[in-house]
Amino acid sequence: MSTPVAKLPGVGPKRANAFIQRLDIHTASDLLRHLPMRYEYEAAEDQIVNIPQDGIGTARGQVAELRWVPGRFGKKGRFEVSLQDESDSLLLTWFNAQYLSRRIQIGDYLRVQGKTKSFGNYTQIVNPKWEKLEDPDLAPARDDKLRPIYPATEQLASSHIEHIIETILPQVLPHITDPLPADLLKHHEMPPLVEALKMVHQPDDLDQTMIARRRLAYNELLLLQLGIAMKKTYVRDRLQAPELTINEETDKQIRDCYPFTLTDDQNTVVKEIAHDLAKPSPMNRLLQGDVGSGKTAVALYALLAAYTSGKQGVLLAPTELLAEQHYLSISNMLQDTNVSIALLTGSGTTKAEKQKRKIIHDEIQSGDIDIVIGTHAVLSDEFEFKDLAVVIIDEQHRFGVMQRAFLKAKNKGTVPHHLVMTATPIPRTLSLTVFGDLDVSTIRGLPPGRSPIINRVVDMNKTDDVYRYLNERLSRGEQAYVVLPAIENNGLEEDPKKQLRNVLDHAKLIQNKYCPDFKVGLVHGRLKSEEREAVMKQFRDGSIHVLVATTVIEVGVDVPNATVMIIEHAERFGLAQLHQLRGRVGRGTHGIKSLCVFIAEPTTEDGSKRMKAIASSNDGFKISELDLEIRGMGDFFGTRQAGATPLRVAQIPQDMDLLMLAKRDAETIIEGDMLLKNEDNALLRSVLLKTHGSTLGLIDVG
Ligand code: ADP
Ligand code: MG
Repeated sequence: MSTPVAKLPGVGPKRANAFIQRLDIHTASDLLRHLPMRYEYEAAEDQIVNIPQDGIGTARGQVAELRWVPGRFGKKGRFEVSLQDESDSLLLTWFNAQYLSRRIQIGDYLRVQGKTKSFGNYTQIVNPKWEKLEDPDLAPARDDKLRPIYPATEQLASSHIEHIIETILPQVLPHITDPLPADLLKHHEMPPLVEALKMVHQPDDLDQTMIARRRLAYNELLLLQLGIAMKKTYVRDRLQAPELTINEETDKQIRDCYPFTLTDDQNTVVKEIAHDLAKPSPMNRLLQGDVGSGKTAVALYALLAAYTSGKQGVLLAPTELLAEQHYLSISNMLQDTNVSIALLTGSGTTKAEKQKRKIIHDEIQSGDIDIVIGTHAVLSDEFEFKDLAVVIIDEQHRFGVMQRAFLKAKNKGTVPHHLVMTATPIPRTLSLTVFGDLDVSTIRGLPPGRSPIINRVVDMNKTDDVYRYLNERLSRGEQAYVVLPAIENNGLEEDPKKQLRNVLDHAKLIQNKYCPDFKVGLVHGRLKSEEREAVMKQFRDGSIHVLVATTVIEVGVDVPNATVMIIEHAERFGLAQLHQLRGRVGRGTHGIKSLCVFIAEPTTEDGSKRMKAIASSNDGFKISELDLEIRGMGDFFGTRQAGATPLRVAQIPQDMDLLMLAKRDAETIIEGDMLLKNEDNALLRSVLLKTHGSTLGLIDVG
């Protein structure tokens, strides 16, 4: 089952690559879980004279004549073959398939199948399925059968996949043991795993395919729900966390730090978090709230709850830019307090920079620093917190790689409380599946005084108009972002029209042509952090008016006076990403309506759908549901890394009832055997750890 696809019969390097890259299939086991999307009834092979005149026919014969008929007046050409057996002949026509003249020769034996049509004196099949019979005497006649049709790619036809599965099935099935308890299967009237696999790939009838699919979907869902139940129970019953109690006085002290009063939603969430923090088991909570909804204030509450109990907290951001930004705004809020706070970012390899980090490490270790703000990268460094009680992970909106394992506090045998924050809300249907191990808090509304962003999707030929209008907005004292997909001209395109617009060239163009009276600055991922920080500072204090950037500004950047955003080649960005980017504007309470212009030329249907979706709503919850709809669950997880797509067979929401069934069963099983340590459950446990060990952070469970 663990044999890599490259080692399977009939799979060369090219196909192996297609399996891995395009279908996310890495092993024989993955392949067996690559289920047919539908089945086609294939009539038994017959003599040409006997095949139906108007139906599905299968026959074999020898190529007697062939010709390529070029199309005229711009019409498609066609390739025609006359196929003969001892009974009659059959006309085969393929449109637009000149390449076939290299593949099919006079005298070849072919087996063909397709929809037949009779024209009095001859019968024709258009675009038949065909295979060449190298040795027609040895190729047995086809029986009636249901043929599986697999999701396929250009390099990997469904028939190839079918053939490979046909070959390996008899070899693999005897080695498969069913991980699910027999009595459970009996109770649900589900077939054993081996039988289900056989039935789904080589069914006798359609009933079998449904029975098999149900069993396989349940299998997947049960494993996932077991993982979730195990993680939850384990966290609750076995892990120890410091109890952080907040009384009226500390609550007031914390609230005094904010330059505003918390919104109702923020208050609700703060209450949920405070409740968790006071318990002796670690919080494992997800905070979702749209861009600009004020998650940082909530995070700060949790960090200060650690401080007021004499312990430490850490806030991790995905980029240095964001960590710097958090550091600034949090330092600001804490300036009249005794809280000591440090910024710790991973970049900088010079001796001086390393030394600087070392000093901070020592201060964290001695407890002189109360709150650390940094990037994930800093965690790889060797140092320990004196008494870490709260970990906040900001902007974990890349779902596939969501942080799941707990950061261990190396002291006292306790685990800190964890809060993961995301601005890409998780669609409701997914929150029951992959994110079922997390408690979820939600901020629905935005802080008061915001006015909604106006969205415009425009063609590239409107570019001049867009920048002329930008100039007008700048003259009123507003500021703007311009986002591009590339840093510089990659030099690959000769035709300048096809060249992607890029940060370096576009910044010059805007400065020289469109907005000569204003100051244009730029940021991208290749700037040193000092340079970047200098530019951001100028943008923040208003001495730079237009910030031209790559998606480094995607998350967290907060400059309320910036009210215009222009996104070039918007069709190249994902929906969630566009929404994130757009969230950089519309943050002020000055009453000015912010504007986001998406300059786009979508070339795919999905691209057009994305543009339509982004313009249709400013609500991140709505956007993420649309995103899931457009991409489907597999792609929604972004990275196609192993384990990123947790479900292959089960379809959410269609299989919701099966999901609820699996959830109940899983909870019962875990109730009786929390870590699946009973001998009966040994196989279940090992399959579970292999499937979800890293994605659910079951590593903790050991
Ligand atoms: P996000 O949820 O995107 O991380 P932030 O925490 O960056 O949002 O908050 C966005 C802006 O809203 C910040 O400028 C912040 O100061 C402001 N803000 C947050 N909470 C409130 C509030 N209760 N009242 C007014 N402004 C608020
Ligand atoms: Mg934020």
